[in-house]
Amino acid sequence: MAATILHRARNAVLNFVLPPRCAGCGDVVGTVGDFCAECWGKIDWLGSGCCERCAAPLEGGEHDICLPCEAKPPLIEKTRAAVRYDDLTRSLALKLKYGRRVGLAKVMGMAMARQVDTSDRPILVPVPLHRWRLWKRGFNQSALLAHEVGRRSNVEVVPDLLQRKRATVPMTNMSTSQRIRNVRGAMAMSPGADVEGRRVILVDDVRTSGATLEACARPLLKAGARRVEAILWARVVRPRDITRS
Ligand SMILES: [Zn+2]
Ligand SMILES: [Zn+2]
Repeated sequence: MAATILHRARNAVLNFVLPPRCAGCGDVVGTVGDFCAECWGKIDWLGSGCCERCAAPLEGGEHDICLPCEAKPPLIEKTRAAVRYDDLTRSLALKLKYGRRVGLAKVMGMAMARQVDTSDRPILVPVPLHRWRLWKRGFNQSALLAHEVGRRSNVEVVPDLLQRKRATVPMTNMSTSQRIRNVRGAMAMSPGADVEGRRVILVDDVRTSGATLEACARPLLKAGARRVEAILWARVVRPRDITRS
């Protein structure tokens, strides 16, 4: 009780000094973690109506899986993304990654946590950064998101379960096949890590081709994980990703 009153009082003081700002445009909003009505309306929130395997939006509503996933099922058995990747949602991911706006992890993690299936004690595992990049940036944005999602959904986070064995080059302008080659064999289990029989949910900020997630799934499945899933902030959707019309 006393703690609640203290917490409320602290929030009231904080709101007075630093009113909550929209994570999209910076306008003052009612509560921390909110978007203003305009930004909220602009964001393409993804949920049901997407491919169960890769979170590509589906048209028609009769199928759970998109045509590419049906033709060649990915190792990731289920993907959920909070939003579609566009100018606004990308700016949040970039601010988190390069602008050290770590408070944004709360906003993004909140939207992601809503889509996590917490049954049968899964574990959340962030997509790892190579240690050189971690050293340069000072933090792993996926680990920040994983901690936020874990805190909100009450799911255990195992931050160092996977390792990036080699530094892969940035994949911004690469094609899907180049991306697959670039990350192939780059991920490994950390020494002593145990995932036998567990459902693992990978956490990442943005999914482009899915190559990184697939590269993470391989060592996890080899080590005995029962099932590998993924939860993301944003999913890049290209016109060819939308099938089943
Ligand atoms: Zn806004
Ligand atoms: Zn799919």
